[in-house]
Amino acid sequence: MTPVTTHTTCPYCGVGCGVEVKSQDLDVAPVAGLQAHPANFGRLCVKGSALHETTDHTDRLLHPTLNGKKTTWDKAIGLVADKMRQVISTHGPDAVAFYGSGQLLTEDYYVANKLMKGFVGSANMDTNSRLCMASAVAAYKRALGSDTVPGSYQDLEEADLMVMVGSNAAWAHPILFQRITAAKKANPDMKVVVIDPRFTATCDIADLHLPVRPGSDTTLFNALLTYMHDQNCLDNDFIAEHCEGITDALDAARAAAEDFADLEQKTGVDASELETFFSWFRDTEKTVTFYSQGVNQSVDGTDKANAIINLHLATGRIGKPGACPFSITGQPNAMGGREVGGLANQLAAHMDFAAEDRERIKRFWNAPSVAEKPGYKAVDLFNAVKDGKIKFLWIMSTNPLVSMPDADAVKEALGQCELVVVSDCMANTDTTAAAHVLLPAASWGEKNGTVTNSERRISRQRGFLPPPGDARPDWWIITQVARHMGFEDAFPYEHPSEIFDEHARLSAFENNGRRDFDLSGLTGMTREQYDALAPVQWPVNDTYPEGRARFFDDGRFYTPSGKARFVPINAQLPEQDDATLIMNTGRVRDHWHTMTRTAKSSRLARHIAEPYADFHIRDASQRGIRDGALVELHNDRGQIIVRAKVSDDKRQRPGEVFVPMHWTSRYASSARMGVLINQDNDPVSGQPALKISRVEARPFDVEWQGFVLSRTDLGPLDADYWAYNLTDTGHMYEVAHRDSPEAFLQKIEQSEGEGSWLRFSDEANHHYRLARVVDGRLDLVVFIHRDYDFGTRQWLIDRFGDEELDRNDRRALLAGRAPGAQVDKGAIICSCFQVGENAIKEAIAQGADTAEALGKALLCGTNCGSCIPELKTIIQKSSVEFTDAAKAG
Ligand code: SF4
Repeated sequence: MTPVTTHTTCPYCGVGCGVEVKSQDLDVAPVAGLQAHPANFGRLCVKGSALHETTDHTDRLLHPTLNGKKTTWDKAIGLVADKMRQVISTHGPDAVAFYGSGQLLTEDYYVANKLMKGFVGSANMDTNSRLCMASAVAAYKRALGSDTVPGSYQDLEEADLMVMVGSNAAWAHPILFQRITAAKKANPDMKVVVIDPRFTATCDIADLHLPVRPGSDTTLFNALLTYMHDQNCLDNDFIAEHCEGITDALDAARAAAEDFADLEQKTGVDASELETFFSWFRDTEKTVTFYSQGVNQSVDGTDKANAIINLHLATGRIGKPGACPFSITGQPNAMGGREVGGLANQLAAHMDFAAEDRERIKRFWNAPSVAEKPGYKAVDLFNAVKDGKIKFLWIMSTNPLVSMPDADAVKEALGQCELVVVSDCMANTDTTAAAHVLLPAASWGEKNGTVTNSERRISRQRGFLPPPGDARPDWWIITQVARHMGFEDAFPYEHPSEIFDEHARLSAFENNGRRDFDLSGLTGMTREQYDALAPVQWPVNDTYPEGRARFFDDGRFYTPSGKARFVPINAQLPEQDDATLIMNTGRVRDHWHTMTRTAKSSRLARHIAEPYADFHIRDASQRGIRDGALVELHNDRGQIIVRAKVSDDKRQRPGEVFVPMHWTSRYASSARMGVLINQDNDPVSGQPALKISRVEARPFDVEWQGFVLSRTDLGPLDADYWAYNLTDTGHMYEVAHRDSPEAFLQKIEQSEGEGSWLRFSDEANHHYRLARVVDGRLDLVVFIHRDYDFGTRQWLIDRFGDEELDRNDRRALLAGRAPGAQVDKGAIICSCFQVGENAIKEAIAQGADTAEALGKALLCGTNCGSCIPELKTIIQKSSVEFTDAAKAG
């Protein structure tokens, strides 16, 4: 049998790269970027490149379960449908809720939204996209009259000035970052300004980095609007013809800052750098402002985005090549969710709750009871569960017990709900543990449908693997429940192409050019045409049969007057509180969301192996926190324990600490950062303020630290701190404990598996080394010590791959390395070629002092390129070390 080639789409970030997969039965060859896909033109970042390593069935949810016991689909669907009906008839439709995800395909989302908003009669369908880009949506709608991303990725390349705000695109949207990097290389006049409190990998291409005080960016953009006005640089013709409300916006903006000195004081950025940025903005027509979660995840995220859009409207920099405000979404199908009405304040096909929209949707769906008003947004939704107002909750493909603010309150809420249903592809998440009913969903590679990326491009996700066990696509599961509830006629779907067709027809229904979202050109496709659908940017209609790259080039907006609206923004600065630290959250390069897929790839796990917190050296020394030691972050909501990274003032501003969002109870003992975040959210969009939480930090002193390597997954360890990773040959835990090690060791020794033990112990130093060999193969290794640094372990990890230990290796086990051999790789910097930090430093010492030279010497950075900013940082640090050493010498 020859391998089957499938063209599909990456399921991670909002760039939406095309992927080529070759598979044969369950074997999936290393994936490649799809040359023909306009998002990536053949490239993939490190996460995308590892997709084939994530398709195994470990940890998969394989069967419907009820209270932990396997059941049948018939019983599970009957129970879910009956409970929904009972709750609706007893407490009304608003007592049920769905909570979806940007991981759902558009077809899944469409069916869920239709069931809730048209047939249950409530709008309590919200999604984790609320945490990602709800403020961007609200701002577009306030200004443009529609949720329309104005430009394309091509505009990012055509810009002469890229202003990147609250975005670490180098790690969060790597392929787009690489496109911008290449464009900058090709156009030496192109400037990049990064506005971010942190000095991130994205600053690698920055001509100017403005490390603004968190929450001061609205002030910055208002001051820029005033500056442009005072410099006579507004586009008065565009404003007069195509906009309304400039006077109020300018009046509000003028209050932001008196002069550059005042702005420096408010933003924490040098006045001279602010002046440079303002003059570049003034002098550069082709400007794109590219913004992401750093803007959206704030108490004033909508205002921030509108302050940005105000600037683009006032200068006429919208609807032109290389000029627009551009919000980038985090998730692969956040945009598809927006199109079908996945947010609780939308209906479907970019229609809202106006009587005319409701009536139109009611007629189209032939629906009994279209929701009359917006439903609960995410934070309010889980509060309503806690208050007993919502009695039935269905969570689809997401893990709110980790990602929601005040995550422990969400856990408590679920404990009080009459029925919690979770449909997911994974069995062991924090959220599946809180469910009464689990429904196994198909995963990437097993399901069929469409996704929309951040430039409005619809692409097909195509299946190439059979779903394991009883797993089924989400649209199928929801359809079965809807039918069981008595809505057979409205939910006749047998294939996602039928759902897509209905979705496209609804977008066209009584549209007549009044709504931006119009797929009339994609209606009536056969299943074969749907299967062959090429990536296309909406709208697709008579005017734009091949899709539309750029909106508003005609100066027409989707407001009642047809003019864009300036929104007056009153910039508010957050209160100063020097006693506590501001906790910022975000992504790391090689993991995605709550790691359920990326943690299956051992090479992705090796970039950053533990949850951590980035500290400025001043804050760390004030608190007695050492680089590499464990630290506890805490506030009155909870605490987490992570590894401290301490740096100088470039990476992290004093008074602030950064914590990645990914680690869950599956992968670490206590690192769910959501427990520390309060419920503050944007009053317009409802988006939680995930970037600013007040925390304190103190050392987490332990009696001993060490690591465990095991052939089998040992599950959660009985220790105060542990972090879990897959290795090439088994499983690995970092571990630490506040008590003496004996009890821990006893439990480990009792873990499954008979075999012979090798032991070394030095009780006085809590120094123990244990190895168990079963049938000639290495089965378990434990190294612990009061304060020994056990960085070197690759040789031991490799020994787990041996079919039979050789006698010399067996003797060397407790030394942890072969006699006189092996330099450990250190942290893996290039995940594609598994190049470690130690080899890179060695190559630099040999004279490879550019990223290109390192690439030639070691191949690092020559595939996906995601590690290039880190290579440059290591080169820079190494040169500082050499200089220091030379001086000392
Ligand atoms: S940039 Fe990376 S994670 Fe994002 S879609 Fe492309 S390959 Fe996937």
